[in-house]
Amino acid sequence: MLLEINDLVVKYGNIEALHGISFHVNEGEIVTLIGANGAGKTTTLHAITRVPPPEGPKIHGGDIRFRGRSLLGVEAHAVVRDCHIALAPEGRHIFGNLTVEENLKLATFSRKDAAAVQKDYQRVYDLFPRLTERRTQRSESLSGGEQQMLAVGRALMTGCNFILLDEPSMGLAPLLMYDMFRTLRKLNEQGMTILLIEQNARLALKFAHRAYVLDTGEIVMAGRAEAMAENPEVQKAYLG
Ligand code: ATP
Repeated sequence: MLLEINDLVVKYGNIEALHGISFHVNEGEIVTLIGANGAGKTTTLHAITRVPPPEGPKIHGGDIRFRGRSLLGVEAHAVVRDCHIALAPEGRHIFGNLTVEENLKLATFSRKDAAAVQKDYQRVYDLFPRLTERRTQRSESLSGGEQQMLAVGRALMTGCNFILLDEPSMGLAPLLMYDMFRTLRKLNEQGMTILLIEQNARLALKFAHRAYVLDTGEIVMAGRAEAMAENPEVQKAYLG
């Protein structure tokens, strides 16, 4: 198991957002957490990447283990640097006043291996040719879809081999959503492990290997994504 979440309890102040959830991600998998608004999907990602309070959630119980080691005592920046876990937030969290290239470069600040960094620039521009055309453009002038690509690109530039994706389809036109997910599958085939949260459950279940359904802070269902997509309860609640 690459990532193992055990009985995780998370609060914002007095409000408990996750009531003891457990799930795992194996190396090489695409795993998705689906669920309605407010179910606790973003909270889960932020607990893993240790976004500190006040915006970030506070962990009150349970454990997050990565390659068998607890992340609870690890500082947020060290989670990325030492553990190789990168968070690609929704596209609107990129730095609008910086260019595409500058945004990508920011993610490489702690990397020492110049040749590997160069290879990763190439990989990002190969995966997202739109970003190549726009590398000197200020990011705020990118379309929503291009900003989404940049958010994923920036996560790749950390050199991490496990990425957490926050709603990669957000703001994308249907055709571009498919492109994005095909790109993610390509990345996965190249060895990237992916945990993604998605409102678009249909799309997420089509591309993921396994899925968990999160409902008001609890995992209520788990299984192979394909089987989940066929499950009448899931269809009724999330694919309707
Ligand atoms: P969405 O799909 O709408 O983004 P989500 O599944 O990602 O939803 P979360 O954002 O994790 O859900 O929210 C889970 C619960 O925690 C919600 O009840 C939300 O109101 C609450 N919450 C989230 N962030 C904070 C915060 N910074 N302070 C207080 N409560 C928060």
